[in-house]
Amino acid sequence: MEAVKAPRGTRDILGGESWKWAYVTQKCREVADDYGYKEVYLPIFEHTELFCRGVGETTDVVEKEMYTFTDKGGRSITLRPELTASMVRSYLENEMGKGAQPAKLWSIGPMFRYERPQKGRYRQFVQMDIEALGAQDAFVDLEVIDFSMELYRRLGLSNLQVILNSVGCPKCRPVYRKALQEYLRPRYDELCDTCKSRYDRNPLRILDCKSPICKEVTEGAPSVMEYLCDECKEHFEQLRRGLDRIGATVVLDKRLVRGLDYYTKTAYEIQSGDLGSQNAVCGGGRYDNLAEAIGGPHVPGVGFASGLERVIITMEAQGCSFGRKPETKAYVVAAEPSARIEAAALARELRMHRISADLDYMGRGMKGQMKSAGNTANYACILGASELEKGVVTVKDMSAGTQEELTTEQLINKLKAQQ
Ligand code: AMP
Repeated sequence: MEAVKAPRGTRDILGGESWKWAYVTQKCREVADDYGYKEVYLPIFEHTELFCRGVGETTDVVEKEMYTFTDKGGRSITLRPELTASMVRSYLENEMGKGAQPAKLWSIGPMFRYERPQKGRYRQFVQMDIEALGAQDAFVDLEVIDFSMELYRRLGLSNLQVILNSVGCPKCRPVYRKALQEYLRPRYDELCDTCKSRYDRNPLRILDCKSPICKEVTEGAPSVMEYLCDECKEHFEQLRRGLDRIGATVVLDKRLVRGLDYYTKTAYEIQSGDLGSQNAVCGGGRYDNLAEAIGGPHVPGVGFASGLERVIITMEAQGCSFGRKPETKAYVVAAEPSARIEAAALARELRMHRISADLDYMGRGMKGQMKSAGNTANYACILGASELEKGVVTVKDMSAGTQEELTTEQLINKLKAQQ
């Protein structure tokens, strides 16, 4: 019988890689602290309805990609495909509107989407997500975009491009929607099947279709910018002035859309030149009518989500540093079986002093243990009958090949001084 394998589109992040994840997570935490965002832990599953209403019935995510099941109580449950809807639900449920506004939240964790797996696209993936809830101000949009840029700057990423657009609001979007439909009508037959079905339901999404024919058809389509109402225009201008002021270069792209009524004004994405087709390291924007869509009062909001797999792939491609790889400092070697108990005690003592230490549990001889020491640690700390008698440890520097006899106290001081 073949051993059970992990489901398609999932991956195990093992020791050779997990330290990189810890580094990136730590950087996320640092930036969140500096920008005043508080970490929250939200459920990994929610009522399906939250995503149908909060992400949108006509999105690919809801139509095709959700992991939905009925639980033993007969409820329809969905593994979260994204975090924004959950963040807004949490804001409402915990009455965060009564606290300081905007409520600034961040979280990191796994998301689930039934997509076709490829490089940078998985069925379980990790997102870092921030949301600022309760403020209309365009400078909050500025803060959110700046947060993502600052995070990537601190991670050492380069070759990134900020793509920006506005998707208007329920006041001005219907006029644009109509203009877009009118423009597309004569060429309706050329659109792909998906876009044909989008034509009535969600025509803005036709703008970000990846099919070359749809791309060509929409090439000369009217731009949303020409249709923005005064409020949306002013919001966009203020954001652009802010971005200019902080020296951010952005590329305006009318194809960047959200295409649902509760997404409003700002839409943005940061793309990497080192990722291939799945090139978005983060995506975000404003959603002033989402809280109402899930049954709450009017709560404006803006945020972004970044896929950590893609961030790490890009960092690796660009040779970015992940900080210091955790390493074992000392490998305690028992020169004979009778020294094993003292070897265990010495390893424990080193660990109590925050010096990482390891030892053999496989009954290897001296030679085998020295080999393990060479493979895994900076120092071999050898204990044999003569060391025990003299009350010392023979400490061998595995890269220099030198060795000396030290008391335990001297050993601890020496290794601690190197940290
Ligand atoms: P979205 O929620 O679709 O706007 O995606 C936000 C970010 O999450 C993207 O920019 C990607 O970095 C990441 N992401 C989305 N879907 C996936 C996926 N299936 N696998 C890996 N990362 C993803």
